[in-house]
Amino acid sequence: MDNKALIGWVDKFWENKILPTLFDYIKIPNKSPSFDKNWKENGHMDKVLNMAKDWARKHLPENAELIIKETPGKTPLLLVDIPGNKEGNVLMYGHLDKQPEMDGWMDGMGPWNPVLKDEKLYGRGGADDGYALFASMCSIGALLDQGLEIPRVLILIEFCEESGSPDLPHYIELCAKTIGSPDLVVCLDSGAGDYKRFWTTTSLRGLIGCSLKVQVLTEGVHSGGASGHVPSSFRIARQLLSRLEHEDSGQIIPKELHTNIPDHRLSETKALVNVLGTGPVNEFPWKNNMVPSTDDLEEGVLRRTWRPALSVVGASGLPPSENAGNVLRPYTQLQLSIRIPPMVDPGVAQEAIKKALTENIPYNATVTVEFEEAAAGWSAPKTSVWLSDAIKKASSDFFNEKDCSMSEGGTIPFMAMLGERFPEAQFVITGVLGPGSNAHGPNEFLHIPYAKKLTCCIASIVNDYK
Ligand SMILES: [Zn+2]
Repeated sequence: MDNKALIGWVDKFWENKILPTLFDYIKIPNKSPSFDKNWKENGHMDKVLNMAKDWARKHLPENAELIIKETPGKTPLLLVDIPGNKEGNVLMYGHLDKQPEMDGWMDGMGPWNPVLKDEKLYGRGGADDGYALFASMCSIGALLDQGLEIPRVLILIEFCEESGSPDLPHYIELCAKTIGSPDLVVCLDSGAGDYKRFWTTTSLRGLIGCSLKVQVLTEGVHSGGASGHVPSSFRIARQLLSRLEHEDSGQIIPKELHTNIPDHRLSETKALVNVLGTGPVNEFPWKNNMVPSTDDLEEGVLRRTWRPALSVVGASGLPPSENAGNVLRPYTQLQLSIRIPPMVDPGVAQEAIKKALTENIPYNATVTVEFEEAAAGWSAPKTSVWLSDAIKKASSDFFNEKDCSMSEGGTIPFMAMLGERFPEAQFVITGVLGPGSNAHGPNEFLHIPYAKKLTCCIASIVNDYK
């Protein structure tokens, strides 16, 4: 492989073919079905599908096939099947649905407004994970351009990842023959500890989402006459949450949500802290003198990757502060997002959460708990020698730095599904979500120079496939 030619080809392709398309992609508010119940009628997903379809068709390698699956009532699936001329079956993964808007965008920026600034492309969904389809096809195109032999590559793009991939099991069954048995899975939907090297993700947390609704009255009443006598729905919700987490430390209480962290992941965490130092602390936009939940750097990383945690991500039944009268409100509804460590069974964890929230309810309040599709975490199988050599070489060739691996606190449901189904497969889970890139939050950006180098690394690793 001619590295210099590869860098040139990838750079040009990114500038001319990928970035203009990503600009258009950011403009489309293609929120994942969880955040847009009328996604089909609203038509944003069809718009994105058509755009991806047109683009992929235009850049389809010779003899490759573009396959669209669309089962009624489900989000679509896009496949690019590139035949190989050497052994091996590589599955490349990405998604084209997005997180909701979120507020806090800088002046002149917004989720659906692509802005290029300091070699970063701002806007929702560019980095998470709009670039994946385009970068995957770019990496393979670059190899083919040099006349190199490639293994069979299947690029699989889903449209419901941010909702927990509820439609994927159906499509994996439907496309089982096309997918075959992957030897190598490449996923471009993950994070990077910095922008200086090639990062691989060796584990992911799982996710349990649910809404907790506490109802005390059939309608709101004057708080002057009721408060004190009528128990507040907020206080009951608070009591119930304290069954899930210690409110002083944030530690999760039910033991079903914890796992024993393997020793090799502990040493990996140590190595990561050696490389990044206080990076994992400083990457957050702390307000004033705010400090993290622990000042131990390794424990801090473990808390966001291998320990369970609860976040309250939304609420209903509460008017905005500026419109809040003195009312004892009839109900409080909280949206809970509970990250669970790898190797924790989401079904068992969900049962434990349900039990904690619904048994022995104070004052006989009406409590309803509704769960979303739960997702399991994932921990990588042992990396084979050819792959760790290929990763090492790629990072050194294109970043001039040693590669590094990390555990990730986020969730990619498909990786757990694949790991279970294909225990022999090797994984390269990587991505552009480095410090500040803020996927899911305001000011999400795609670090363009990093994305280009990452594309080169993927090409190099696929080229080294043995
Ligand atoms: Zn993603």
